[in-house]
Amino acid sequence: MQIVAFPVGPLGCNCSIVADDRTKKAIVVDPGGDFERIRGELSAHGLQVVSIVHTHTHIDHVGATAPLQAWSGAAARIHEEDRFLYDMLPVQASMLGIPLPESCEMAGDLVDGLALPLGDLQMGVLHTPGHTPGSVSFFVSAPEGRIVFTGDTLFRRGIGRTDLWGGDSDLIFRSLKERLLTLDDDTLVVPGHGPETTIGDERRGNPFLRR
Ligand SMILES: [Zn+2]
Ligand SMILES: [Zn+2]
Repeated sequence: MQIVAFPVGPLGCNCSIVADDRTKKAIVVDPGGDFERIRGELSAHGLQVVSIVHTHTHIDHVGATAPLQAWSGAAARIHEEDRFLYDMLPVQASMLGIPLPESCEMAGDLVDGLALPLGDLQMGVLHTPGHTPGSVSFFVSAPEGRIVFTGDTLFRRGIGRTDLWGGDSDLIFRSLKERLLTLDDDTLVVPGHGPETTIGDERRGNPFLRR
């Protein structure tokens, strides 16, 4: 398994590229901006994009989806319960002062329990609502380790805000407790913003998970 993660766009959304070593097939998680950088990383590693997935549909996580979709031909996917957020991108753009990105076809097929093919690997979908109704986390288990992409649900020493459209604080605590904290302690966490951590590290040190 190969993982490249780097911040993109004006709000520093972590974009991740997860690839299978043998087949060079890749899934891009949260192409929030800087399409040229994302394309450069994919080309430099000789990777073929098979899916473009989104932990949720806030504008800073979908900013480069349309050009990446057009260039790669891969399907772009969200959880259907975030569709309304994609439909209101102009409102998000004006509220956050971010230029309105191009939009594209978005499949709403990221349902809980789905396993997206990734060469010899699979990427599992966990529905973890709360930050938005359609927030999901992506889980990959490879011989060299386990990794989860938590979007804006779980950060290093923080959790996502729930005061934006469709946010729900009871739901985010349930998602954290029942879905993310049930993963093994050694699972690497790549959050939607900021540094990486592990499930065990957050279980012990994240003040929001103590309630
Ligand atoms: Zn967000
Ligand atoms: Zn974000």
